[in-house]
Amino acid sequence: MVFKSIRGTKDILPGESDRWLEVESTVRRVFRRFNYKEIRTPLFEQTALFSRSIGALTDIVGKEMYTFTDRGEESLTLRPEGTASVIRSYIQNNLGEAQPLVKVYYLGPMFRQERPQAGRLRQFHQFGAEAIGSPRPETDAEIIALTIQIYRELSITRYDLKINSVGCERCRPRYREVLTSELRKIAGSLSPDSQRRIAENPMRVLDSKDEKDQSLTAQLPLITDYLCEECRSHFEGLKSALAALRIPFRIDGRLVRGLDYYTKTAFELTSTELGSQDALAGGGRYDLLTAELGGKQTPAVGFAAGIERLLMVLEKIKGAGDTGGQPALYLAAADAESREWVLAQTMELRGEGVWVESDLLGRSLKAQMRDADRQGVRAVLVVGQKELQSGKGSLKNMMNGESKEVQLSALQQLFAKAL
Ligand code: AMP
Repeated sequence: MVFKSIRGTKDILPGESDRWLEVESTVRRVFRRFNYKEIRTPLFEQTALFSRSIGALTDIVGKEMYTFTDRGEESLTLRPEGTASVIRSYIQNNLGEAQPLVKVYYLGPMFRQERPQAGRLRQFHQFGAEAIGSPRPETDAEIIALTIQIYRELSITRYDLKINSVGCERCRPRYREVLTSELRKIAGSLSPDSQRRIAENPMRVLDSKDEKDQSLTAQLPLITDYLCEECRSHFEGLKSALAALRIPFRIDGRLVRGLDYYTKTAFELTSTELGSQDALAGGGRYDLLTAELGGKQTPAVGFAAGIERLLMVLEKIKGAGDTGGQPALYLAAADAESREWVLAQTMELRGEGVWVESDLLGRSLKAQMRDADRQGVRAVLVVGQKELQSGKGSLKNMMNGESKEVQLSALQQLFAKAL
């Protein structure tokens, strides 16, 4: 029996993992500068946490969750997104008690049983942040600026930022009523998905990817025309903060996101470098979620971004390939008697912080040289009985082919300098 990875999951292979590490360390660096601290929550939670927060009628909860019953007969679910767990933890650990504004980030795998395609996986990775405790639009602006700064720092500068306000529990019901009655008039001509959504989540009909749906709904009223005074002024505050930060944006009155918990701000960042799965990151405000999950009502705003999508863009602009560099030195043993010295010296140099490699396969000197070449090491030193007796050897610089005589006892200083 030959085993294969599950459809929609992917191995991150040794040749790719350096790119991942580079992205992850950039992401963490930017989060730190914006003063967000990491929070790590479990990969699985009670199923009800997600259905309550994301919304029972959303695609995620309706058809995409990996839900299973454990031996205690409890229904558990692999996390499909990060916010619900963060808010669960915020409430459970009273994080709001110590400070009025809690700024946290996460980075890790998420699980959704979607139809796999390029840029869409069943186990994928997200990083995201939540600012919990502020109702002010400057906080939304900081979250958006943070999202953008991460991409900038990775040299990704071609993207579109769309923003919208999806209203709140005061103004949204009236808009939903108007929209639903308008949608009912054209229901017969809409796609089956959109027809279903009229009753479940009419605002998502406006977000339909179906071209016919789009033209049929082009003239329908938008939420932005129905915002209450508070939501309108919050939205104005966000626009003005983004302008002050010189962040270009486009208002898209049709932007609603696939999760029910959003109030007021919704935003999405799309890449102009990607095909159909072009959403890099999305987020928004969710002022009612904490109360919905049993905590004290606390305004909050956050975002989530896909790492696989980000890597696809990086590959487009920088090309594929390993970015991790190569060992500084390869110690090659010229004869069997010198192998032990090479092994001991390799470990010693590693202990000193030098990136060094030597042979573990008992290969001939010729094969060791080929290996050093294949690994792209920066320098090779061949050590045999002659070198061990004289205490000197010839260090070959693989970058320019030049050799120079070095003291075997001086390797540490030599390479410590290069560090
Ligand atoms: P969401 O949590 O749905 O708002 O998604 C936020 C971001 O996560 C998206 O913009 C994508 O970059 C990424 N993402 C969401 N679902 C997937 C998936 N199935 N596979 C890969 N990336 C995804």
